Amino acid sequence: MAILSMECPHCRTPQSPLTSVGAFQIGERRLFMFFVCPVCEKPISAKLFMARAVLGAHSGQELMSWSKTTTSAGWDLEDFWPTQTDSAAPPDAPPQIARNFVQAEEAAARTHREAAGMAYRRVLELTLKDKAPDLKGTLEKRIDKLADGGRLTPDIKDWAHNIRDLGNEATHDEDEPTEDDIADMAAFTRVVLEYLYTMPAKVARRASSTTPAP
Ligand SMILES: [Zn+2]
Repeated sequence: MAILSMECPHCRTPQSPLTSVGAFQIGERRLFMFFVCPVCEKPISAKLFMARAVLGAHSGQELMSWSKTTTSAGWDLEDFWPTQTDSAAPPDAPPQIARNFVQAEEAAARTHREAAGMAYRRVLELTLKDKAPDLKGTLEKRIDKLADGGRLTPDIKDWAHNIRDLGNEATHDEDEPTEDDIADMAAFTRVVLEYLYTMPAKVARRASSTTPAP
């Protein structure tokens, strides 16, 4: 089980000792190798080439019984997948909301789940403040009022409540939010921002580009 030591593209652990689980030779000096990150247990594939011939590590088969790093076996990294996870905010979200969203995504990618949970909730809080500065009361009441006023569809309202609930748990519970909770919050928050910012901006651009000249 050769080890590939690199920053994990999933959890971003620096120098994670990715453990090989399989190899597929694609030429005398090139192969694909498949790894699992011992920190987040997610898969990574890599393309390696033999930069130096090292006795006992001439092939994928030999590498699979190599107990040290791929580098020490003479194989260099040519490419890997997934490439760094994209944490960009949905287009057209206001800068302070986009910035908080990216911070939430980065905390989630590093499996800092409490920080991520609070950050997603903050994105929702800022979004409501931006979209409905007139509304007062708790976050729960403001979501309901916004939906009653027809400014949120029933689905989006449910998702907003989900983010709020999970965010409250992240803030007040002693237990760490689960990976699924954070994945849900990430997905819900993204959809809420797309609904409230990306789609209307797209529609507005389409409308202005098709308006006939006076
Ligand atoms: Zn990892």
